[in-house]
Amino acid sequence: MAFENIIGHDRQKRFLKYFLENKNIPHAFLFCGQEGIGKRKMALEFVRHLFCETRDACGTCRPCLKLERGSHPDLVVIQNEGSIGIDDSRLISKEISEHPFEAEKRAIIIDNAETMTTEAANALLKTIEEPPPNNHFFIITSSERDIPMTIRSRCTRVPFSLLSTAQLENYFHDAKDIGPERASLLSSISFGSIGGGLFWLDDENFSIRLKLARIISGQTTGFVTSSSVAEMASRTDRTAAMHLAFLLSFFRDLFVRYETGDASRIVNTDLAGELDATRYDPGWVERSIKRIQESVRVMRYNVNRWLIFENLLIQITGNR
Ligand SMILES: [Zn+2]
Repeated sequence: MAFENIIGHDRQKRFLKYFLENKNIPHAFLFCGQEGIGKRKMALEFVRHLFCETRDACGTCRPCLKLERGSHPDLVVIQNEGSIGIDDSRLISKEISEHPFEAEKRAIIIDNAETMTTEAANALLKTIEEPPPNNHFFIITSSERDIPMTIRSRCTRVPFSLLSTAQLENYFHDAKDIGPERASLLSSISFGSIGGGLFWLDDENFSIRLKLARIISGQTTGFVTSSSVAEMASRTDRTAAMHLAFLLSFFRDLFVRYETGDASRIVNTDLAGELDATRYDPGWVERSIKRIQESVRVMRYNVNRWLIFENLLIQITGNR
């Protein structure tokens, strides 16, 4: 029972294994940590152990096969594209008002729980305050501070840490069959998460990243280009967040490149040409980092991602 399908997180695995072995399972877990790091996978793996006839996630018994097919009636997964609303909370209360159908227990996974509306969160709170026995919640979030304290305080917290560069490199090389050079680059630019690496594996995302680097370095100029690159970069919440994170890493690389000269600490190793082409000014780097951080903050509460991104590029390139 080693949760061997999941990369890294050994401490978290031991912690979860302890509950399974002692058959003393908290009624609510809070899995928190960076996006794309394996939190949801870990919750599903835990449920496989919980439901399996041999308690070992054998993969061949009836419950294991049903989980594999996504058709186990005692696993409820809430994961909305937008936000988690009151209808989702009502669905949960309806489900848990009944006995589990096939397993001894029911598992409710709430992914991206930070997107819960206040109404949904209040309803969920009532549910987990006095949950009917044999119901186990897995509340998953990459933004713990957006989960109301009243809910957090009723959960067993399992914080997930970033994966190491070596773990990521092995994953991309072995599991994804990517050549050593690209696997090494992906591990470096993935911000410690598998999801991050997979994001940059997408050709469109990767090419926008290069276009952004060229705009920052001054190799590409012009408002129309900046505006269209900003539009592509910000087409979803996720792409906007990732490209903002990239911009931060690019400016940190500029600092490293010109202040320390230590090439081994550069993250965006494939962008050496763009880093070299940038006219370095420490004040500009500092101001730009502040502006990017401010954009990250504003974007959490503002729907006009394109405008924010476009303004950011104008401010950075116009303020050298
Ligand atoms: Zn099984």
